[in-house]
Amino acid sequence: MAGLIKREDVDAVRDRARIDEIVSAHVTLKPAGVGSLKGLCPFHDERTPSFHVRPGVGRWHCFGCGEGGDVISFVQKIDGMGFTEAVEYLADRVGVALRYEDSRTGAAAGRGPREEPGRRQRLLEAHRVAAEFYAEQLFGPGAQAGRAFLAERSFDRSDAERFGVGYAPTGWDALLRHLQGRGFTQAELVASGLVSQGQRGIYDRFRGRLVWPIRDVTGAVIGFGARRLYDEDQGPKYLNTPETSLYKKAQVLYGIDLAKRAIAQQKRVVIVEGYTDVMAAHLSGVETAVATCGTAFGGDHAKVVRRLLGDTTAGGGLQLASGASLGGEIVFTFDGDAAGQKAAVRAFGEDQRFHAQTFVAVEPGGMDPCDLRMARGPEAVRALVDSRVPLFEFVIHTSLRQFDLDTVEGRVGALRSAAPLVAGIRDRSMQLGYARSLARWIGLDTEEVRREVGRAAAASGQGRRRPERRPEPSDAAQGPASGMSAPVLAMPDPRDPVARVERQALVVALQYPQHVPESFDELGEDAFGVPAWKAVHAAVRAAGGARTGRTVGGGAWVEAVVGQAAEAVAPLVTELSVAPVPEDREEAIAAYVADVVRALVDLGLTRRIADAKSRLQRLDPAADPEAYGSAFERLLEIERERRRLRDSA
Ligand code: ZN
Repeated sequence: MAGLIKREDVDAVRDRARIDEIVSAHVTLKPAGVGSLKGLCPFHDERTPSFHVRPGVGRWHCFGCGEGGDVISFVQKIDGMGFTEAVEYLADRVGVALRYEDSRTGAAAGRGPREEPGRRQRLLEAHRVAAEFYAEQLFGPGAQAGRAFLAERSFDRSDAERFGVGYAPTGWDALLRHLQGRGFTQAELVASGLVSQGQRGIYDRFRGRLVWPIRDVTGAVIGFGARRLYDEDQGPKYLNTPETSLYKKAQVLYGIDLAKRAIAQQKRVVIVEGYTDVMAAHLSGVETAVATCGTAFGGDHAKVVRRLLGDTTAGGGLQLASGASLGGEIVFTFDGDAAGQKAAVRAFGEDQRFHAQTFVAVEPGGMDPCDLRMARGPEAVRALVDSRVPLFEFVIHTSLRQFDLDTVEGRVGALRSAAPLVAGIRDRSMQLGYARSLARWIGLDTEEVRREVGRAAAASGQGRRRPERRPEPSDAAQGPASGMSAPVLAMPDPRDPVARVERQALVVALQYPQHVPESFDELGEDAFGVPAWKAVHAAVRAAGGARTGRTVGGGAWVEAVVGQAAEAVAPLVTELSVAPVPEDREEAIAAYVADVVRALVDLGLTRRIADAKSRLQRLDPAADPEAYGSAFERLLEIERERRRLRDSA
């Protein structure tokens, strides 16, 4: 991957990509008040729309599930892309040429020159043309063996078309000539991985094989997987595209383009083993199925999957007390062998949160989804996925299987073998739960099992467990400097009238700075009482106040405030910048804004009056007439100010 994209180019992309257009490709948006659109949230299941988009500020927010952000984060979430990938994707669409920051400049970088601009587009185009070519060949006279392979596995013509399955002709240059005829250069073809370089020139990489187009999340073909069909073929059973600038086998997941929506909605991903298994699963109604391509499921695949599951916590992200949910299920339909479970365990490394989300579904007869669909129909495939058991349980059961639990010796052996597995579970309550289950599975007393688990923990040095990392409890988020740890912000009670006024004032400051009266910018840091809104106000002040909003306007203004907000506060800024405004007549907005700000200022004055009165009560006019007099004077002054404000309304 190239270096960081230059900041101003990211801004240009954000600026030029129209959020309503991008979102509309996935969500049907309807007008919802001035400058606002809403629709059904693509990230959670709902019947009434709570997903709002405000094109004027370039932001979206769902008031149902709490997700929100700008156009880039929308693409990241909906397509499961990383930040850079999403910016590149949008840049392509809106025609921004990206420049990259290279911190290790020049020769010291030790990398080749950056791919020339437009090269990626050419390679994608070559793949698109190749996929089309292969798909046509499948129904030609030479592809008898390919069609037979599919028919034997109960796939018909429309199934083949749905998945874009094709046939690579025998011979050496069928695709090569086709692509050259379309104007692709030799250098482009070599870079694409579609041809191989031999001593006597280049030739087709895939020959006499059934081919599956492998697509990225956006549906663009980036490579192929190819199955041997003929006995005389000396090559491997499956042959894939080599590593290219488009195709990284550690990241690609076959079927991701078809499955991404279902994965995000169902919060579940099913990992199967091959192309035909993905087809069989989808055709059986398991639309969350994907497969790795010619490699085991690894850490990079896990990242892709977590993003699609909507897990934003992987990088220690935000934690809101309102209960931002992470999670979802990752179901492996591996063979029941040790290699399969090791792969699953390894994929998530030490991160036990993901072990806790991982499930295993094994067909007792060892059938894969493709076999299962043929033998027992689509219901059997769905039943297989439904029969999943938690990874921990699966691993423990596997270890018990080697013992005869009908004998004392067998039970003792089973306990000694399984106790370290239970001891390795770091989540305390889950460990206790599994200790109880283990007692039941072996047929032993719970206390005995817990003692053995304790011994195993001590033996492995896990007796001194590190305390679980927990976010610092904090009453409020401070400025951006405190962005190191994500503080938990208590969400204000929406029925609290003070919280409501404070919230509305911030909503209008973010959405309509041009109408916000000067008095708003004169408010000090104690003008807001609710911690969450106080934190947003601090970010607004740090960004220069509403007067800056008036100058820069719209999306750039909200962007500036987000830039000043601590990590846990940024989503609140987004939420407020998209929140519906009760006044939906354009011509009445200015008056509404003025009212809200006046109510806020009034609120602050009322609070100060209460403070001044309480101070007065604590003073003794006889003992210190001077202090009493000036405190009294201050109270009158604030009361006059409030009267002036109210009279001007
Ligand atoms: Zn939602």
